[in-house]
Amino acid sequence: MKIKSVGEFGLIDILKEDTIYHPANVVVGIGDDAAVLLPTPRHLQLMTTDMLVENVHFTMKTTLPQQLGYKSMAVSFSDIAAMGGKPCHAVVSIAIPPETDVDFMINLYQGMKEICREYAVNIVGGDTVSTHHELVINVTVTGEVDAAQLVRRAGAQVGDIVAVTGTLGNSSMGLALLSKGQWEDYPFAWPLVTAHLTPKPLVGPGQRLGKMGATSMNDISDGLASEMNEIASASKVGVRLEQTKLPLSKELLEATERIDLSALDCALYGGEDYQLVFTMNPADFSCLTEESVGCAFTAIGEVVEGEEVILLDKEGQSSVLKPRGFNHFC
Ligand code: ADP
Ligand code: MG
Repeated sequence: MKIKSVGEFGLIDILKEDTIYHPANVVVGIGDDAAVLLPTPRHLQLMTTDMLVENVHFTMKTTLPQQLGYKSMAVSFSDIAAMGGKPCHAVVSIAIPPETDVDFMINLYQGMKEICREYAVNIVGGDTVSTHHELVINVTVTGEVDAAQLVRRAGAQVGDIVAVTGTLGNSSMGLALLSKGQWEDYPFAWPLVTAHLTPKPLVGPGQRLGKMGATSMNDISDGLASEMNEIASASKVGVRLEQTKLPLSKELLEATERIDLSALDCALYGGEDYQLVFTMNPADFSCLTEESVGCAFTAIGEVVEGEEVILLDKEGQSSVLKPRGFNHFC
């Protein structure tokens, strides 16, 4: 069945089922002119939005609608995590070609609902319009954070350790495998492709790092080089990173034997890893454990005087690391 045969209101009726996963904070969800929410007293409110455009940010050739729905929420949850907060509510605006199947939309929303259930986030509204171009999905997410736990980009101090969670570069290698096709036979490819299609936002670790004294933090959406430069310029400091310390997965290294991409380029410029990069003073950092953070993490460098991000290579040669991630208008 096509959307044009059920119409805007018919579609909303189908999609609005089962959208509240943390009812304590909602007075009115989907169905009125505006959602009515009950914020936690004395918490700061966070708000972030991300727009995904077909054939700019994703292609239906390599993703299932359910995976697309999951990821369209995940990227915003990750922004909230990078502030030390927890996502609470989402509104979803979509522009859809009238020829789209209703089942496609149901599956897209299944993916959104899956991640919202996982992270106890409510879908409390949205907007549905038609387009004669490609699919556009805009997700806005609100979150909450205790003021003492808020982490901004601007707090890095000279002498702090720079660290990242997890491993870097998996997502962009996953994208390369998807674009090349015929990756299913390689066991190493699965975690890389999964990292690209359905990233797991690090909400628990982000909150704990906030509590445990992270002085600055970013989620890695545009690549480590770009995120690091953002922290350096917001904090008015320099950063020195060591190439040999960058955490790379064995799957990424295995993939480089079959795909003509360097693991280092994936790690520095690939983007969409949705890991967290953070700074912390050495005394606080020495108290962190994998258990207390909730995931693996690795020290990759330190905050220094200056304003540039420097990378020391294997031979100890230094070079300036420029932000070279994806930029829409270049
Ligand atoms: P209004 O005309 O008052 O803006 P709409 O008819 O556009 O209301 O929407 C009706 C209800 O459905 C509202 O609560 C709105 O937030 C919600 N809604 C509309 N589109 C979506 C969507 N794509 N996803 C989730 N909720 C939606
Ligand atoms: Mg409307």
